Amino acid sequence: MSKRIIILGAGESGTGAALLAKSKGYDVFVSDAAAINPKYKNELIEHKIEFEEFSHSVDLLKGAELVIKSPGIPFDILIIEKVIEAGIELIDELEFAYRYTDKPIIAITGSNGKTTTTLLVHHLLTSSGVKAGLAGNVGHSLARQVIEDSAEVYVVEMSSFQLDAISSFKPSIAILLNITPDHLDRYNYDFDKYANSKMRITKNMQEQDCLIHFEEDEVLHKKVIQLTQKINLAPIGFKKSSKTVGFKSAEGLSIQFEGKQFEVPANLFPLKGEHNILNMLAAITAVMQYGVSIEQVLAHLPTFKNAPNRMEFITHIKGVEFVNDTKATNVEAVYYALGSYSNDIVWIAGGQDKGNDYSQIKELVAEKVKAMVCLGADNKKLIDFFEPIVANISETQDVKEAARMAYEYANSTDVVLLSPACASFDLFENYARRGELFKEAVFELKSEKDG
Ligand code: ADP
Repeated sequence: MSKRIIILGAGESGTGAALLAKSKGYDVFVSDAAAINPKYKNELIEHKIEFEEFSHSVDLLKGAELVIKSPGIPFDILIIEKVIEAGIELIDELEFAYRYTDKPIIAITGSNGKTTTTLLVHHLLTSSGVKAGLAGNVGHSLARQVIEDSAEVYVVEMSSFQLDAISSFKPSIAILLNITPDHLDRYNYDFDKYANSKMRITKNMQEQDCLIHFEEDEVLHKKVIQLTQKINLAPIGFKKSSKTVGFKSAEGLSIQFEGKQFEVPANLFPLKGEHNILNMLAAITAVMQYGVSIEQVLAHLPTFKNAPNRMEFITHIKGVEFVNDTKATNVEAVYYALGSYSNDIVWIAGGQDKGNDYSQIKELVAEKVKAMVCLGADNKKLIDFFEPIVANISETQDVKEAARMAYEYANSTDVVLLSPACASFDLFENYARRGELFKEAVFELKSEKDG
């Protein structure tokens, strides 16, 4: 009899894992506590994979030898407690996929900048002629790609939730961008627990593997120093230190590789903002470690286009610049977004609070933000904190009204920045939908104002 695998969650990762498991001859069953997206349901039917939706059946775990869980499922729900109690092996889809490929993996994690950096690594590799797969939270699931396994290397964006459920997964090159408070609601509001979860990316790495890390992030730096195994460390930072292999320079950024120093001039940068200097340093260091030449980096860096929703320019209305940074769902991301503009800012913030501490951006807000529009179901925490600092504050639950209120506060040289510091689920389906509706509202306002 073939080994029985239960897959919890039928999104991209769960369905990918099911397809891989089926192709390897396992007895597969997929269970989702909610409705399964028809796209994935059809794939399961087509591949004759059994599934259930809307709840987990009572005897679901009977005979199961392995459970693969979707990263969105927390550890403290009943079904997961039952898996652990029964002593059944519990892993993430990335761990499962990893067991079926021997191709090198470049894995990217951190609290912020993962998607941008992952996409940039992938762009620099593919435009240099490397057949690279894009996986994790972006692109198709790794499990799905490993069925054919036709890539030369996989570039994988990893969240702490995925890292929590790996055991043998080992990247040859890992990027750890930063560790700042996020998702604390999933870690009992214990920051150290969350930080340790991020550090799990190094769990199986060895001397021949390369860890690129942001040296000036204090929390991360402390954790890197505490690593017990030997790993080839490649620190990057804004400042040059005795160890940094990549840093910000007068001309742009500077990379040291195999005893030589290379300059990447700022006029080639495809992204704006200090935080993106770090992301570029990390991505360039990673691809050069992989074997891409500096000439290829210089040729292909300028053509990179980031995913939408990250400091995305929308349009001008009578000189006022509107920017969609809906993906800034924590305080640290907002810190960098506010710091990227020299103009006065009308800041649209708010949504579902994730245990935010706003004291970190208090001074910056006082310096840069002339008015604030709170866009959340409950704006009390934001208003209480910022009322003494920001001269004008309004609140609304309607995105169109938020755009309009912000425009009324702005003059022709200001920036209206949607950078919420919060999750979107109180008023929207997800962060992307919040960005989409904001853009629509801005264009509607534009056609009205521009006549
Ligand atoms: P992630 O995938 O980690 O959420 P993204 O690349 O999607 O990261 O960016 C999310 C948000 O974080 C955006 O608002 C972006 O402007 C901000 N950001 C991007 N890179 C960094 C960084 N290195 N440090 C802090 N904030 C960042």
